[in-house]
Amino acid sequence: MNALQRLMLDFVALLFPELCPACGTGLHHGEGDICLHCLFDLPYTDYHLHQDNRVARQFWGRLPLHAAMAMLYFKKGTKVQHLVHHLKYKGRTAVGIKLGQLLAERLKQSEQYQDVDLIIPVPLHPKKQKLRGYNQSEYIAKGMAEEMNIPFSTLHLRRLKASATQTKKSRYYRYENMRDIFSLSKAEQMQDLHILLVDDVVTTGATLEACGQVLLNSPIKKLSIAAVAFAE
Ligand SMILES: [Zn+2]
Repeated sequence: MNALQRLMLDFVALLFPELCPACGTGLHHGEGDICLHCLFDLPYTDYHLHQDNRVARQFWGRLPLHAAMAMLYFKKGTKVQHLVHHLKYKGRTAVGIKLGQLLAERLKQSEQYQDVDLIIPVPLHPKKQKLRGYNQSEYIAKGMAEEMNIPFSTLHLRRLKASATQTKKSRYYRYENMRDIFSLSKAEQMQDLHILLVDDVVTTGATLEACGQVLLNSPIKKLSIAAVAFAE
């Protein structure tokens, strides 16, 4: 690119700056994918510092986890919802990578996540992924893997069926509904590994529970969970 072309691009960027997916203001040159103000202003949970946090407690009696946490509080109409919306529905995959990096920075401060061997994002149903074009959790896992310097895999855990809308169903029904939705391949490669299962938003925990059940039926050493956000 010559100097004139670069000048033209800078000029276009000045007229039409990329917007921060959380607050909608124009991003400054070099600011990255989320504006600095939002990065400092997001509602962080600090759950990585507290072993018996609310996400961990949500899985008590459901899954024998080594550790569980989520980085942000998710509420409707907030910056966190805008972030997740841009990541899931607007193709802003770079936001997923950035959120993954932020999540990993926190996990690196927690003793419980020091020996993670492999990151696995919650898979989308193939049809849904084809429609959306990507799996948002895969980008979160990618950002985490880079920051934590460990691999992530989309090959081991697969989704076989879509799940019906289930927000109003009972916990037992949700569990029954999620059974047999996920399957593992090459489970022997996960022998004695500490697996970190990653999702965008934890709500009922039913999807993570179903994935977790499948993983815990394989010869892994232990299972932990990390999510970008937690909806109460
Ligand atoms: Zn912002």
